[in-house]
Amino acid sequence: MKRVLTGASLIGVAMSLANAAGAQQQAPKQQMDSDFAASVKQWTTRPEFMTPLVDHLPLSTTIPSPKQVFGHHIGVPNVLHSQAEINGYFRKLAAAAPDRVRIIEIGKTNEGRDNIVVMISDAENIARLDQYKANLAKLADPRRITPAEATRIIGETKPIYHVTAGLHSAETGPPEMVMELAYRLLTEDSPLIRQIGKNLVVAFTPVLEADGRDRYRDWYYRHLIDEKDDLNKPASTPYWGKYIYHDNNRDINFSDPSAREMMQYYLEWHPPIMHELHESVPFLYTYSGQAPQNPDLDPILYGELPFYSNFEMSQLTKMGLPGVWTHGFVDAWSPGYVGFMASNHNGMLRMYETFGNAGATTMLRHIDTGEVGPGARGGNQTARDWYRPSPAYKEVEWSMRNNTNYMETGVLTALQLASTFPDVILENFYKKSANGVAAGAAKAPYAYIIPANQSDPTRVKFVVDTLQLQGIEIGKANGAIKLGDKSYPAGSLVIKLNQPYGRLAKTLLKVQDNYPDDDMTTYDDAAWTMGLMTHTNIVQIADKAVLDVPTTPLDRFVVNGAIGGAGAGGYAVLDTGSVNLAQLRFRLKDVAVRVAEKPFKAGGREVPAGSLLIPASAGGQLKPLIEELGLTAVAAPGDPGVPTHDMPIPRVALFSTWGSTQSVGWVRYAFDQYKTPYDLIFKEQVRAGDLRAKYDVIILPDQGRSPKDVVFDLPMKGKPLPYDASKDFPTMGMYGSSPDIRGGMGLEGLEELRKFVAAGGLLITTAKASGVPGGFGLVDDVSAGGVSKDFYAPGPIVKANVLQPASPLFYGYSQKTMPVRWASNVLLGVPKTAKQYVLMEFPGGKKSVMSGFMKGAEEVKDRPAIVNMPVGAGRVVMFATNPIWRWQNLGEYRMLYNAMLNWKALGGANNLAPVKPDEGAPLGKTPRVDDGSKPTGLTGSDDTGTPN
Ligand SMILES: [Zn+2]
Repeated sequence: MKRVLTGASLIGVAMSLANAAGAQQQAPKQQMDSDFAASVKQWTTRPEFMTPLVDHLPLSTTIPSPKQVFGHHIGVPNVLHSQAEINGYFRKLAAAAPDRVRIIEIGKTNEGRDNIVVMISDAENIARLDQYKANLAKLADPRRITPAEATRIIGETKPIYHVTAGLHSAETGPPEMVMELAYRLLTEDSPLIRQIGKNLVVAFTPVLEADGRDRYRDWYYRHLIDEKDDLNKPASTPYWGKYIYHDNNRDINFSDPSAREMMQYYLEWHPPIMHELHESVPFLYTYSGQAPQNPDLDPILYGELPFYSNFEMSQLTKMGLPGVWTHGFVDAWSPGYVGFMASNHNGMLRMYETFGNAGATTMLRHIDTGEVGPGARGGNQTARDWYRPSPAYKEVEWSMRNNTNYMETGVLTALQLASTFPDVILENFYKKSANGVAAGAAKAPYAYIIPANQSDPTRVKFVVDTLQLQGIEIGKANGAIKLGDKSYPAGSLVIKLNQPYGRLAKTLLKVQDNYPDDDMTTYDDAAWTMGLMTHTNIVQIADKAVLDVPTTPLDRFVVNGAIGGAGAGGYAVLDTGSVNLAQLRFRLKDVAVRVAEKPFKAGGREVPAGSLLIPASAGGQLKPLIEELGLTAVAAPGDPGVPTHDMPIPRVALFSTWGSTQSVGWVRYAFDQYKTPYDLIFKEQVRAGDLRAKYDVIILPDQGRSPKDVVFDLPMKGKPLPYDASKDFPTMGMYGSSPDIRGGMGLEGLEELRKFVAAGGLLITTAKASGVPGGFGLVDDVSAGGVSKDFYAPGPIVKANVLQPASPLFYGYSQKTMPVRWASNVLLGVPKTAKQYVLMEFPGGKKSVMSGFMKGAEEVKDRPAIVNMPVGAGRVVMFATNPIWRWQNLGEYRMLYNAMLNWKALGGANNLAPVKPDEGAPLGKTPRVDDGSKPTGLTGSDDTGTPN
């Protein structure tokens, strides 16, 4: 695709940039690229989709244009550039204009691609870039400067306006557009471009999800390029990046290296504005930070956001572009969107959604959204509303160039406004930072304390590392803390909120109990409280005296493992709930490990249930692992005096559909972090059968929109869609391979799962996938119903009650009531006679909501949260929760690990011995449990909860 054009027509063209006069004066006539003008006119599907800002492009003898590098202008139909081509183009710009372009290498992606930031401005600004960087850091921390110094610094500094493209890989236009925009900024001699160059540093992230860009591009060329029926498009590529697809914009704890690198870049350079370019709704939506809003962010932000979006809406509408609107789409509640790092750090996240075709193919698009329910954000996008004075069309021929025209015109307009008021941007940035410091001392809460000596320091470390990654300052108390009648031991961690990012700390740590209106929907989760998600004790402090507690800045939180000598029984590794305990089991792969079923004493210490018993002979392997993993091992007595069982390492398979890999991706991520061995299996492997010979545990994690999706996945319509290795499409076939991703496991696959369980396997399902066993007859006595239409629970954190505390699933958990994230609207039900199989349930009701909100909380009253059902020689454990929700609810992870690792001992608590497998039992007639003591009167009951 890469052709270098050295057109003779370009030689000898003079540039007039050097002659640039003042911004208000009309530029001398600059020679324009007539081929560009003719091409983009042709590719723009209607005259009103073109604007005077982008209908021309200057010729240059020094700066390579996209056409010179690629052989075509930006917006050419049927072409997507690779990440290497796009970054390569920016590197060519830097080589051609080193005085006006600076490239900052910020790191690598999961698959090893380069992540860069490109800064473009006038030569005087680029020469002073390091000074600007230092100045922005001062404005970001008003404790270091006086207001008078701030005024001086603002006068000497140009703000960085950061534009990011390519976060979502199917949103293909922005990485194309930014190349043309960069070229235009470097070559065009117009009052607007001169003003931007003079007053702003424009920074670009050309492709934020670089791995996904290339994979999507391969998929586009392989399967989508000729598809023009927008109502019947083939499925998208199974993966973008390595793990998490669209959730790369929900990665609140920065699991992804690219997100971490952006965060580090942000804290180094402090761009006061980050402008993220997305694609979805027609024709251009500009984010105004609509309700629900996080009220802890500075009120100035909520004035700035509509200031920009209204300017853009009016300017673009003035230029004749229809369908430019604001207000009615994304809100400002969750802090977990990647660009929200700017708003979280006293800057501002801005965002566009431009209409896109998920590729570069021109096609007729049907936008009539018809009847739209009251909850639908923004309503019908083709209908006029007060925030959409000129709506999009119901039908429109749409092209990549249309997309480029809209987005580039929008960004140029945003840069026009920003470059008109560069001082205002910096004043606001400084003022928001100063307000942030002051807010922490003005009213409660004043701090959060993480008390020392928590039973599991590894989860404390997760919290601390995540806060520090975002620049939040944490102090370690120099002595014991006494606040009124409350006291905390020496070494407790104190996060005082009178710091620049105190409001971010508050946002992340507080309970979300201030959602403005339960009738208002939100774009993502309503709750994220870190202490509840990680089951870590974090105390909100309303006593202002906490601000005077002497602390020493915490550099890094280190967890030291502890191991002494072996006892007669070897070692006991204490189970205090760390996920690392599970990791330890997997890494001691050749060691025979037993687990204590009840607590006992060893050397005067309490050894909790779930602690691992390791033979003394494995001490050499154990010691470095205990230290690395931050665990504690004590000498074990020859006889602990409590029941124990073997903990053989299970052979684990993790099932993924092809059509919805994201939630599975989060489980894969967690498994990789905790070095958990597993096979990723798809419909192909399930249908091939013989599963019990290969696996002990099969996990069906949450995926798709419903239990039905888990089974049937992508419909068998259209053409075959191979996702397999190919010389022409090198990113295909990664993380799984299929000759045709359509079809799902189907009933054939379900039958193999039934056989697997009947033959002694453990099937674990989570969240929506837990509707599969009951809904498709893999288990009796468990119904999978739905919630009422009024129920609404966007990921609140709710209480769950443990009913079988002795079950191995609760090793490492000491409380009978725990916080869990509400995960699914599939409600499980069991008859009263099967209640003994319910390990955990939701008490329901408003009082059970710990953070966020749940509309219709009575509906979940006494609903099972975990069911452990013996079937044949095996077992099905159904989580109504999602024990691995993103990289977030670490407090729940151990329940899944406990089920996996104790796969042979899950009947323990209630002695529910399974019966012999009935090989001939057809689907839907799985063998009934016979526990030898209870009557099997489980059939015939209609007390199975709500129907579907
Ligand atoms: Zn997007």
